[in-house]
Amino acid sequence: MVFKLFKSGDELYDESKDLIKRGEYDKARDYLQKSIDKEGGTDDVAAVKVALIDLKDRLTNVNAYRNLLGALQRMDDPSFDFGLLDINRDDLISECELTIRKIELLSSGGSGQQLMQKGEALQTLAQDFQAKLGERNLIILQLFRNDTTVTGNTEFYNLMAIAYETMADGVVWDNPTQAAEYQQIAMGYRQQNGQSGEANLERIQAYSRTCTCWLCGRIATGEGIHFYSAPADVSPALDKDDKPTARSSPDDGAHIYICRACYSAVSNRSDEISQAYYNQALQEMRAMEARLQAEIAALQSQIAFARMGR
Ligand SMILES: [Zn+2]
Repeated sequence: MVFKLFKSGDELYDESKDLIKRGEYDKARDYLQKSIDKEGGTDDVAAVKVALIDLKDRLTNVNAYRNLLGALQRMDDPSFDFGLLDINRDDLISECELTIRKIELLSSGGSGQQLMQKGEALQTLAQDFQAKLGERNLIILQLFRNDTTVTGNTEFYNLMAIAYETMADGVVWDNPTQAAEYQQIAMGYRQQNGQSGEANLERIQAYSRTCTCWLCGRIATGEGIHFYSAPADVSPALDKDDKPTARSSPDDGAHIYICRACYSAVSNRSDEISQAYYNQALQEMRAMEARLQAEIAALQSQIAFARMGR
């Protein structure tokens, strides 16, 4: 009888299957990697499983998805098992490609026109999720998060909502009314996806709110963007709004509405005044320091003279 000291690549691979079923992914990865080292096979299902396990804790890492995508594209088998699941290669390829686009798009920033383009790209991506995955749930989330609720369709609603929120951010500076309309559409998609859309509603209300600036009398629309509510002591005699359609203060008697221009002028001026006081204080401190230094130097030389005279 031959005592087997070393396991063959195939045996290692078979053992990795049991480990994956038991959820012992790190150990399974070791066995898979050893089987690849023995048998080659960087182009087979073992390499795909290693890439999958590497993805487990890096679900927002675009490179982890790229590694998996590369391994899937090099693999010939049309399907493979992973734990209790039988996974279709082409389905997982689609999921990887869509997810890579999603991570890249969502992590991109920008403002104005860039956000409009980002919003349009997100809409295209949303439609691709719906067309390519449809009712099917995302395999990766099922495997590693035990979550089967996220499907191509729910991703469609989710990404459409984000798309319109992004576009709202893009236009709110120039056109808060349009931004409120985009938020309204986004809220519809969120609600179809089983969410409340409350954050959208708050923005719709803020973007639609109009005031008369207490200081300059201009009409401004878009609270928090084009006008602010600032703390103030509004006595009852002053609190007589003659423009009920666009009030210049809320009812609390403790705030007034100020348009962005007036607000920024006041706060810039106050910054300048603070800066002037700060500079003055600093200057006086330096002058005092210089005086003290001079006095210390005088004392030191007196001491030195006194010692010489001994
Ligand atoms: Zn104003």
